[in-house]
Amino acid sequence: MARKFFVGGNFKMNGTKESIKSIVKGLNEAQLDSNVEVVIAPPALYLQLAQSELKKPNVQVSAQNVYDKPNGAYTGEISVAQLKDADIHWTILGHSERRTLLGETDELVASKTKFAIDGGVSVIWCCGESLEEREAGNTITVIERQLAALAAKVSGSDWDKIVVAYEPIWAIGTGKVATVQQAQEVHEAMRKWLRANVSEAVADQTRILYGGSVSGKNCKDLAKEKDIDGFLVGGASLKPEFADIINSNL
Ligand code: PGA
Repeated sequence: MARKFFVGGNFKMNGTKESIKSIVKGLNEAQLDSNVEVVIAPPALYLQLAQSELKKPNVQVSAQNVYDKPNGAYTGEISVAQLKDADIHWTILGHSERRTLLGETDELVASKTKFAIDGGVSVIWCCGESLEEREAGNTITVIERQLAALAAKVSGSDWDKIVVAYEPIWAIGTGKVATVQQAQEVHEAMRKWLRANVSEAVADQTRILYGGSVSGKNCKDLAKEKDIDGFLVGGASLKPEFADIINSNL
């Protein structure tokens, strides 16, 4: 089964009512490759606004985070049940900004992933190495450690609800995109790990996205690689070039 190309737009802590309406209007009016699954992740405050403005059936809305507890005394958090209540069926989890700035561990990210899936919310699960880890030659070890923490919590059909995003931390928001070879090498290693440690089917079917300074200029070359099944886009998802990234394969 061919893996459907997937492009996520992570707006991070950016946007206003007006700018989000305008981004969504741009997507509604753009010619988008209908073979691509698209998900945009505005800040929580604007999820429902984006949802109500969207008119394209193949574009969905995602949260940027969710908690691994049922509704209760967790000030500042949002629950899986609340996402479902708001008709939001996706969340990003484990983004490096949350891992590094908010101290989220591999185990917490894995636990949140399982909780989201059990509650019916699909997950864009992120991983990636720091510059120090890459320079020390530890890239694959770090990614495998992160994958192992995830695989310890999820099983079987849970994997159908997970899209994996490889995002080298040194490439995020820096303009320093990984080379096509660097990205393909890690994606291939991740698929190999899934084949050896989870199953053939999960290795073959799981979409592995690349994220980190993806732009309208570099997306086409990256998209040609056999193990790159789409992108998680930060800065460029706020701009009209996001449509070009969605259309990487045209
Ligand atoms: P960037 O961010 O495209 O701005 O580098 C990617 C991400 O953090 O998901």
